[in-house]
Formats: sequence, C-alpha cells, structure tokens
Amino acid sequence: MIAVRQIGCAIAVLGMLGGCVTTQSGPTYSVSTGKPTAAADDKLAATLKPGAKPALNTDDAGLRMMYDKAEGKFKTSGNVVRDPEINRYVSGLVCKVAGPYCADIRVYVIRAPYFNATMGPNGAMQVWTGLLLRTRNEAQLMAVLGHEIGHYLRQHSLERMRTAVNTSNALAFFQLATAGAGVGIVGAMGSLVALAQLTAYSRDQEREADRFGHLFLVKHGYDPREAARIWGQLIEEQDAEKEEGEEEETRSVFLASHPLPDERRDTLWELADEVEVREKLTKINEEVYNAVFLPHRRMFLRDELNLRRFARFETLLEMLIEDGKQVAELHYFRGELYRLRNDVGDVERAEKEYELAVEAGDPPGEIHRSMGQIHQKLGKMDAAKGAFQRYLKAKPNAEDVDIIRHIIGKLS
Ligand SMILES: [Zn+2]
Repeated sequence: MIAVRQIGCAIAVLGMLGGCVTTQSGPTYSVSTGKPTAAADDKLAATLKPGAKPALNTDDAGLRMMYDKAEGKFKTSGNVVRDPEINRYVSGLVCKVAGPYCADIRVYVIRAPYFNATMGPNGAMQVWTGLLLRTRNEAQLMAVLGHEIGHYLRQHSLERMRTAVNTSNALAFFQLATAGAGVGIVGAMGSLVALAQLTAYSRDQEREADRFGHLFLVKHGYDPREAARIWGQLIEEQDAEKEEGEEEETRSVFLASHPLPDERRDTLWELADEVEVREKLTKINEEVYNAVFLPHRRMFLRDELNLRRFARFETLLEMLIEDGKQVAELHYFRGELYRLRNDVGDVERAEKEYELAVEAGDPPGEIHRSMGQIHQKLGKMDAAKGAFQRYLKAKPNAEDVDIIRHIIGKLS
C-alpha cells in the first residue's frame, strides 16, 4: 500500500533545511529479508527500506541530519563505554533483531546511571549503563532493544517530531538526542525528563514498539514474559521511591517518554501468556549476559550509589541479591547505601551488610575503610583500627592512605 502524505514545514523551524516538501511513505519491508512485503500479512513489517536514505529535500532528511550532528557530539564523548566485549555483545544482539537493517544501526553504550535507551531516526542507538544494570538477562535486554528498533523500523521519530514541531518543541529533540554527550547527564536529568515529555511518542506508537519487542523475542525463541518483568521491576523501584517520599519517579527519561507502565506491563504479560502456553519459550540466556556485564557491574553500581536515590537503589539491590551473582559487592553497596543514608538504625544495618560482604568473599577493598568508619561510629575502636589497617593492606596506593594512617594513629 502506498500512501502519500502532506508534510508541514517541520525542518524549517530548526533552520537546517529551507524547503518543505511532500514525502512519500512507500511500501513496507520484511524485517527478516528486507524485501517488500504486504504489511497486513507481516506483523513485523517495516516502513523503511534497508540502507535507504531519504531524499535531501524532505523533512525526513532534515531530521536525520539533526541526529547526525547529535551523534557526532556523543560518539566522541568520554561517556561512551569502549569495552570491546560489551560493544560486540550489544551490537550483536541488535544485529540479530534488526536483520537486514543491521548495517544501518550504530550502537553506543553510554555510561549513565538511568534506565534509558534511545533510537535516532538516523540509526544511532544509545543504551545507558543504568539500563544494563537492570535488565537481568539477555531476553530482557532483547526486549528493550527490540522495542527501540521497532520505533526505528516504523519511523516513529518522524511523526513524533512533526507533532513536536507543531507544538514548538523542536529544539527539545536535539537536546535530548545529545544527552549522551556527557557533561552533566546526572545534573541535567530533570530537564532531560522534561524534554522527553515534550517530545514523547504517542501511546499507539509505544504499543506498536512493544509489540515489535514482543514479536522479536518470540521470533528468536526467548521467553516473552521477560518483557513484562522489566516493567514490573521498574514499577517496584518507582513505588519504593514514592513511599520514601523521594518523589523522583520522573527521573527516568525512558519512563517519561513511555507512559503508563502498569498498563504496558499487563499488556505484555497477556501477550506473553498466550504465546508461552502455546510454544513453551523459556530461553533467557542469563549466563551469557552475566559473563559480559558482571565484570563491569561494580562501576555501574558505584554510579548508581552516587545518585543517592536510596529507596530505588535499595529495591534494585534486593532484586540483584535474589539473583545471587557476586553477592559480596552487592552487600558492600547495600552497606554503603545505609552508611550514606544514615537514618535511624542505618549504622547497624551497614555493619551487618559489610559483614555479609566479607563472608561472601572478595568484596571491593574500600569495604575496610567503610567498616572502619562504621566501627568508629559504634564506638568499637579496636575493630575500627583493624579495619583501617586492612584497608591500607588492600589499597596501599589509594589517595587517602596518609589520612587513614593519621586516623589509625589517633585510635591507638
Ligand atoms: Zn518507546
């Protein structure tokens, strides 16, 4: 089916292209083969041809140019995770999902402690480390990647931008697209969320992207219930935050631009239940996933702790501890959470967590310094001294060794 649509002067607003012309949304293409297909018969039909570049005088081209500029900014930023194994793995999954569109998509893993993934209309995809910390297996990551690729294959950004331009929010797109470029992601999160809300996808587009995510999971034999589980996890974190009165639930760009998490979780469960009963799909590839990300998780956790969103972090740690992987570092970080939060009873809680971490074996060396501080607070001066001495042994080249020696001297 060929539809011709009249386009507004969208891009002129951005000052990147002068003209505004009529563009054509052509036939649909199979995501498996890249060949033309009848959309009605193909649930995974794309509205974009593999390798296609829009004609220069269309607003589509203007939008892509804008994202090319944004990509130029964030691709060289210090926030891009360069670890080859992580990049190989995530790009590999994207290619698995995107099939003939693989060469059109470039993946950037961005070091930022928020659950977020974005997909530019030019094929530049961002996956943030806060997301990788929360997706607990390959199936969950695939669900998110499939969702974002769905937005791309159906060219949702284009429609989304036209709406935004009509409501004078075009610039928000550029600012949002360059969010991975570094300086102050954390500080700028509030405004990023506001931008995401201004330029949000429509409810129908989100549903369509969710359906893509679901169908990709099924197509590749993954357990589709994992898509619903991610939403369940995010909702739990949000609820914990609301209960604590931290009220930072708007701090996820992904959630801001993806409304109604409860409804979406339920819909994904229903979709999954139908398929699961029929096809018994159980693949989640947890081991492969963990082999790639566990070696880097300590860094992701440290970034998360630095946000000081304690209620959320506590909920997340509880889920990860349930998974039982490298629990020493998880108990250490839970101890850190309590030590820094410093509510009534937190000193004792922190002490207990540090003990669990030491028992589990191989916690981060910094744990001994933290234990020293906690013992000091509890008036256990000998224990504090011992802990600080263990810290010096574990971290002989740390920047604060002189201070620690000084403290030990005072404790003697
Ligand atoms: Zn979406």
